[in-house]
Order: sequence, then structure tokens, then C-alpha cells
Amino acid sequence: MSDEEDLTYEQNYVLTTAGSAGVTWALKEKPKKKQKKILCIYSGGMDSTVLLYDLINKGNQVEAIWFNYGQRHKKEHLFAEQICSKLGIEFTELDISEINSFLTNSSLSGEQDIPDVHYEDDKAINTIVPNRNMIMLSIATAKAINDKFDAVAFGCHYGDRVVYPDCRIEYTNALQTAIFLADRHLVKLLTPFIDITKADIVNIGQKNNVPWTQTWTCYKGLEKHCGSCPTCIERREAFHLAKVLDPTDYDNHALTVEELVSRKWRP
Ligand SMILES: [Zn+2]
Repeated sequence: MSDEEDLTYEQNYVLTTAGSAGVTWALKEKPKKKQKKILCIYSGGMDSTVLLYDLINKGNQVEAIWFNYGQRHKKEHLFAEQICSKLGIEFTELDISEINSFLTNSSLSGEQDIPDVHYEDDKAINTIVPNRNMIMLSIATAKAINDKFDAVAFGCHYGDRVVYPDCRIEYTNALQTAIFLADRHLVKLLTPFIDITKADIVNIGQKNNVPWTQTWTCYKGLEKHCGSCPTCIERREAFHLAKVLDPTDYDNHALTVEELVSRKWRP
């Protein structure tokens, strides 16, 4: 046996008896994979809910942080709070809505109407909140450094890059570099969905038994999901492409999936 093999053997086995009966070795218990402490930016929508479930089911210690940046409605807050309570995880909510006093050009937080369009339509651009992700990720990183988290997780996905430049891999890579340079305590930026589609996220959610009806997507915040705004269209298309039954209760006036398919998802 070479020295190297011998070393490997001793690393994996432990000497239990050494007497007249000879030497007995028992397999060492393998050290458990270190549990990661992760702060998840959570909106109450389907992507970040799937992310939350997936991280928890992989054995991580997860906490959620929700931002009030002056959204038009608080429905997603209600849903986010309910899911965190159901999962029994820490839910931090932070009011940064003062930024809304000068970020007036976004339909998500300003006075403009939410357009009933597909994300690929030019009108969807008015749903951009300027530099929102940098602001949220920067604040979450500060909490992560303070409370010694290993990572901050963010649920942006492949489809987001069409409209939102701050959901692109070039952006998150640059931000990771900045976060590493920001402090002695290194915080990893986790964006596990950045290269996969929302339909893929639906499939991951199914595997994690995500309660879809307890997630909120719609920009409008009415009693039901409107079924026609860019993010409702994207939600419906994702379930359709994933071949998973969409249990969401949409507004009665919304087009059916069949109608949307025939119109190439343009409401
Ligand atoms: Zn909607």
C-alpha cells in the first residue's frame, strides 16, 4: 500500500480496538456538509418563492428580506409574510419607499398605468425601477455582512434579461466582484436561476411542492391576478411551457390560455 493510499484509508476509517483479537477499524462518520446561512431577497412572487423552498430543502439555513420600495400595492407583502410564517423562517421587511419620491418614471411605483403587454413589447420598459436590484442587493449584503451570512440569494432568471439589464449575468458577476471587495467577510451572491427560464423554475417549484396559489405575481394588486399585465402573461406562459396546470385564479375578463397562444402571448 502506498503512503497515499494509507493516508486515504486512515482518513476514512477510525481505529476502534487494538488488542489480542487484532485491530478493528470502523468507517468514520463523514462530516456533514456545512449548512450555509443564506439571506434570500424575497418578493412573494413565484421565482423567489421557488428559490426559498429550494434553498431550504437543500438543507440551508435561510432567512428572507422583503423591500417596500413604494410598490403600487402590498399584496405581494401579504403573500411573502404568509409563506415565511408557513415555513417558520425569519422575515425582515424594510421600508425604502422614500426613494419613490424621485423614482417617478416606473409604472411599478409611480403614477403611470401598467401596460397589458408581453415583456418583449417596448411598453414593458416602463416597469423598470431604476437601479432597484443594486439597491436591494447592496442593503441585503450589508445585513449579510453584519449577521455573518454566507450568501445573499436573488431569483432573477433568463427571461428577465429582455427588459431588465440588472438581471444579466454581466451585471451580477460585476456586483459579486464589488461585494467581495466591500468587506473582509466574504458574501457570495447566489443567482441559481440566471441561466434558466421561468418554465424551468415552475418545474423546480413542482419538485419542491411550492404552493403556487400562495404566491403573488400581478403588478396590479387587484382581488385576483389580472392575467394580462407583463408579469401575469409571463406566469401563464411559464406554466403552459412547463406543462404544469396553472392553479392561479385570474380575472374573468382575461383571455384564455388558448387565446393567448393563438395571439403569440400578446394580450
Ligand atoms: Zn397582472
